[in-house]
Amino acid sequence: MLIGSYSFTLVFISLCVAILASYTALDLTGRIATAKGRAVHFWTAGGALAMGVGVWSMHFIGMLAFKLPIDLGYDISITALSLLIAVLSCGFALWLVSQPQLPLLQHAFGALIMGAGISAMHYTGMAAMRMTPGIDYDQALFGASLLIAVGASAAALWIAFRLRQHSPYVRLIRGGAAIIMGIAIVGMHYTGMAAAQFPDGSFCGATVNGLKGNGLDSLVLITTLAVLSIALLTSILDARLEARTADLAHSLTVANRELTQLALHDTLTGLPNRMLLDDRINQAMKKVHEQGGCFALMFIDLDGFKPVNDAFGHHMGDQLLREVGVRLREDLRSLDTLARIGGDEFALLVRLAEPNDALSLAARQVGLIARPFRVAEHDLQISASVGIALYPGNGLNAQELLMNADAAMYHAKGLGKNGYSFFDASMNSNARKQLQLLQDLRAALEHSQFSLHYQPKFDAANGRPVGAEALLRWQHPLHGMMMPDKFIDLAEKTGLIIPIGEWVLNEACRQMREWYVLGYTDWRIAVNLSALQFCHAGLVQSVAKALATHHLPANSLTLEITETTAMSDADASMTVLQELSDMGVDLSIDDFGTGYSSLMYLKRLPANELKIDRGFVRDLEHDSDDAAIVSAIVALGQALGLRIVAEGVETGVQQEFLTQLGCDSLQGYLLGHPMPADRFMQDIVRGEARAAV
Ligand code: C2E
Ligand code: MG
Ligand code: MG
Repeated sequence: MLIGSYSFTLVFISLCVAILASYTALDLTGRIATAKGRAVHFWTAGGALAMGVGVWSMHFIGMLAFKLPIDLGYDISITALSLLIAVLSCGFALWLVSQPQLPLLQHAFGALIMGAGISAMHYTGMAAMRMTPGIDYDQALFGASLLIAVGASAAALWIAFRLRQHSPYVRLIRGGAAIIMGIAIVGMHYTGMAAAQFPDGSFCGATVNGLKGNGLDSLVLITTLAVLSIALLTSILDARLEARTADLAHSLTVANRELTQLALHDTLTGLPNRMLLDDRINQAMKKVHEQGGCFALMFIDLDGFKPVNDAFGHHMGDQLLREVGVRLREDLRSLDTLARIGGDEFALLVRLAEPNDALSLAARQVGLIARPFRVAEHDLQISASVGIALYPGNGLNAQELLMNADAAMYHAKGLGKNGYSFFDASMNSNARKQLQLLQDLRAALEHSQFSLHYQPKFDAANGRPVGAEALLRWQHPLHGMMMPDKFIDLAEKTGLIIPIGEWVLNEACRQMREWYVLGYTDWRIAVNLSALQFCHAGLVQSVAKALATHHLPANSLTLEITETTAMSDADASMTVLQELSDMGVDLSIDDFGTGYSSLMYLKRLPANELKIDRGFVRDLEHDSDDAAIVSAIVALGQALGLRIVAEGVETGVQQEFLTQLGCDSLQGYLLGHPMPADRFMQDIVRGEARAAV
């Protein structure tokens, strides 16, 4: 028996090669798993070659590490065959682990084939020595080597399959796995070598024209390292490139999504915008044609948003709009579309089981908005007017539907806001009329179509006149005399109320000056201010100027602001009111009882007068609640040191009751209608004459 020996340097190198080949194989399985299309074949073929060369060269270096006392060589074609077997079995292994699943049976079968392949390579490689007599194999060790080959293959396949996806620390885990796989491959090889016994007098037939000699090991090693490095490098670079591409593709998707979001959504509230709404309306119409059913388009406009925006600034206004958006969405299903289509305008598209369902939904939405909003420490009270257009029925396309819903919304506003209306064909002309009215209103100041009527106020106790309230009238060229409730809203909405209000202030002061000169120096002229004027920066200056121009003491002028205006931003109101009060101007809280007053603010407001809303006075005789409210207001006013005025006094019973409660002054049709200054004066003079008799 010939005794073999090993070059330990080469054994160590063979182990390193085995580990490197394993690592490359694991890396490549990762590549194959993420590659697409033809790249899969490319990576499988390249991987099979690299890994096959690696495994084979481990084996071949291991062979070169083995020395016998006789000359050894390796038959070229048989050696090449062993290389081919290595490449093919590695190719098979790579193909197997790149499958989407690796069930147990397939795994076992794969391990068997791969193990057989590696064993075949090994023993073919041994056969390349062409020994005579043939090599004797120790049965047990031979069997063990086969078992190790199959076992190592099973482990390798399992590891490769598990590690093919990218995960954190994948390189580190792959490194560890590669060491285990390398040791298993080397173990198989050297077990196989240990099984080989060379009888004495053996002769190596491949020494004649086979591969042999010094430097062969280095050649194999260098070639192998080159193949493995190229494969590994390509794989790593490609992985980087792929990651970069994936990053780019991802940011492109994100950018695209953002662009779509921007183009189709309102930036403030994040709700769909007009464009997206149009699209959704068209889709909804198509659905109705195909499947029947119906839908409603609701136009939602906020009442009282503008004053908030003007008084508190855009920042608060924006925040309020956002809150409104959130609240309107509270009650909706995901298939409904809520869009913001203008400053304080929203549109709601809802599919309905039947047209009447729109009614309850609109009522709910109105109710949602009527609840106070808490924005930046302020309680803001607004409401919503909703116009409803139904499809089919109220329009043939998105534009018509929206226009008609808008007209219905105007109708709801006309009915007193904080409510909803269904569209009706008559409303279209209403919208047109409003537009015409606005044009007329713009021209009214220029054409001197405004005038003031004066309604007297009387001392409740002695019946003597104490002044008058100036009430605006518009002599419209077509419609005749128009009352403020027909145009003040429009003037407020368009800002026209500022120049109009200034005119009123001046005209009232001019008139008061006339009366003052006539000797009515203790009278006060009351002028109504709208919320917008109240928030306008120039108000205090305008008042001062009007008083100065007409040589009036400040306390001849009473400014009436409604309770809602005074309370909507109590802090801001306080500043303006304080400035006016410091000037000596008299301040009155109009329509008291209709808003939401905080007692604390009321106490701090520098007001001089409370005007009980005529709504309470009207029902005084029939409604005990109203009587209780009026007495409470009077008591409250007295406790705060305010004058109490009752407006809308129409009957003697009301007059009696209010006087007894302790109201300071009374105003109403019973005592005097609003009328032009000359007739007003005639009545006053007549009254004085009667008193003198
Ligand atoms: P207001 O300040 O509460 O004015 C009182 C309103 O009640 C007046 O209506 C007056 O004609 C009416 N009235 C007076 N006595 C009685 C009565 O016994 N029974 C009934 N049912 N009504 C009575 P008008 O003139 O139509 O004014 C309505 C509102 O328009 C005013 O309410 C005021 O808020 C606003 N307004 C009037 N003039 C101006 C103005 O120059 N500027 C601003 N910003 N608003 C004005
Ligand atoms: Mg008033
Ligand atoms: Mg009033």
